[in-house]
Amino acid sequence: MFLAVNVYSALDIVKDGKSDWRIIVAPQPLPVTLRAAEDLQLYIKKSTGALLPVEKTGIVTGGNNIVVGDCEAARKAGINVTELKPEGFVIKTDDGNLYIAGKDTKGDANSDHWRNAPQSGTWNGVSAFLEKYLDIRWFFPGESGEYVPERKNLTLNDINISDYPKMEYRRMAYIWWDGMSPARIAEVKAWERRNKNGWSTVWSGSHTWRENFRGEDYFKAHPEWFAEVNGQRLAYNGEYGLQMCTTNPQGLDKFAEIIIKTAPSPGYEGCMFSLSPNDSGNFCECKAAGRWMWKNCRAANLS
Ligand SMILES: [Zn+2]
Repeated sequence: MFLAVNVYSALDIVKDGKSDWRIIVAPQPLPVTLRAAEDLQLYIKKSTGALLPVEKTGIVTGGNNIVVGDCEAARKAGINVTELKPEGFVIKTDDGNLYIAGKDTKGDANSDHWRNAPQSGTWNGVSAFLEKYLDIRWFFPGESGEYVPERKNLTLNDINISDYPKMEYRRMAYIWWDGMSPARIAEVKAWERRNKNGWSTVWSGSHTWRENFRGEDYFKAHPEWFAEVNGQRLAYNGEYGLQMCTTNPQGLDKFAEIIIKTAPSPGYEGCMFSLSPNDSGNFCECKAAGRWMWKNCRAANLS
């Protein structure tokens, strides 16, 4: 009698456009983890024509499963997502199954706001997998911007990949706006995720002068800390708040003192801190600030 032994374990996920594989997620997956599994399902279908069902069991019996995200099966296969870097992921084959699991956090899967968007390590892993093994690319938002070569087969040899984003803050700001259709906004947000945009850290990029150097607190005693406009220190600048005079040494010292005190507060730990001016113009025209520049900007209606 002769026994054939596989020297490596090839996984035939799709053969001739057909598949008996399924996608496994935890019984109650995080929204962003489920979204990653759905994207994997979508693009395997687009590429090969095979629709793999998504099942919320979190366990595997035997082979032919793509396990997506943290769950009992992933942990049994030795994947501990808590040990991964923020938004990092693992792609590996084990015992006839494929695992794609990353570090995710709770929150709305459709949010791309740096303050509350979930971290999406699993989705990063799914995108990396689709790029590497199905040669898919997302050049522009929407179907017309994606490249999905058609193929009949998806066969894998052993895989063991681990990676994470080297840049903690990977956001493309203002690439959608409320005037766009909801469908288009959804396409843009998905495009961001597929290209591994993300927010491994919270970074405050707000107009911090308005919040941390308030005219209400300091103007009366120190008008010289605030913007001079048309020869006068401006006492009021509408809802936007007063602009600073950025050349007054005592004012700058005060601002530095406030920032040093504010920076360690909840939400700002270990983060960069924005020194951004307020919206609206009315910047300082005092001699030291470069009166000529602002005057001419205003003359050209650019202020
Ligand atoms: Zn000034």
